[in-house]
Amino acid sequence: MSRSTKIHIDLAAIAHNAGLVKALAPDTKIVAMVKADAYGHGAADVSLALEQHVDRLGVCCLQEALQLRTAGVQLPIVLIEGCFSAQECMQALQANCELVIHSELQLAQLKALNLRQQITIWLKIDTGMHRLGLSAQDLVKVYGELKDAAWVEKVILVSHFANADNLASDSTVLQLNVFGQMLGSLQASDKIKAISLANSAGIMAWPQSHHDWVRPGIMLYGISPFAQPHAAAQKLVAAMTFTSKVIALRSVELGETVGYGSTWTASRRSIIATIAVGYGDGYPRTAASGTPILVNGQRCQLVGRVSMDMICADVSDISSVKVDDPVELWGKILSVNEVAEHAGTVGYELVTRMTSRPTRLFVNTNQH
Ligand SMILES: *Cc1c(COP(=O)(O)O)cnc(C)c1O
Repeated sequence: MSRSTKIHIDLAAIAHNAGLVKALAPDTKIVAMVKADAYGHGAADVSLALEQHVDRLGVCCLQEALQLRTAGVQLPIVLIEGCFSAQECMQALQANCELVIHSELQLAQLKALNLRQQITIWLKIDTGMHRLGLSAQDLVKVYGELKDAAWVEKVILVSHFANADNLASDSTVLQLNVFGQMLGSLQASDKIKAISLANSAGIMAWPQSHHDWVRPGIMLYGISPFAQPHAAAQKLVAAMTFTSKVIALRSVELGETVGYGSTWTASRRSIIATIAVGYGDGYPRTAASGTPILVNGQRCQLVGRVSMDMICADVSDISSVKVDDPVELWGKILSVNEVAEHAGTVGYELVTRMTSRPTRLFVNTNQH
């Protein structure tokens, strides 16, 4: 029998979550963010499942877009950081991609192509995140050129929020105000066709940010962007379920330790289940003793260090655990965000850094 560490991806859950985006922002179009292998969920399968539900796919770079084309994905794809050379721009346009311009350099690369066709530009503006995007000054310059360029059919203005997941912060409202000012500084032109600001947290918590195009990522995978419970997030259905099995059981005496570095010491006689999963599969090594685990659907706790191939759980308080019993590391019942909190990170990172070792299964539960 083979090792039973598995990643189940529920494509029906992803379609359900896309439906929630539509319900929350009914008058907008959707760029479904499938960068970084669809946040570790498998970009080809996820994109093929999403094509009929959304208007664009969003990836980080041309390489990711070309992988989707190889898989047969037809929908236009937005390169959310644009291109890194003129030659890449050409390849991207041939592959039915739409490009972000976030710098004067990228404008120069596109101009160098002397395009004969007309294209859509996603013009990225820095409204306070200070990571990518044109400043107020550069925007006026770059936009002035795009407005008069024969090869530009339309411009979609884009910006990104730094704190939309923090409902107590006034940062999102400030960014919206800066955006309004920057928009106001541009000469009127019918080339500005649309505005795109909202990520998942914007979609769920800041309806005034919806405008014309929303860009959901994490919520499509059924993971909340918020640290606190949020009404809209309750309706999400987790798409990834990470499972394994118990492969050994033993009892340890009071004072005995478990695992590398002997970091956990039994404070009573305890039953320890060894589970076939470790950081070699994507389970985070930083998960501390006390991290929740579901064995036979019952909550228990990780004890000792996470190894490459195995973890241990204290199953003393749950009934009749046997070798071969099923384990959920995270999924529909145990949220990846809860595990992430015990590992000093966020759900985004855990799902994105799964390894290729576990068996990956795509399922369509249709139970939502
Ligand atoms: C990744 C990304 C998103 C999606 O963010 P989520 O928080 O996952 O919804 C939206 N816009 C841009 C520019 C991104 O890079």
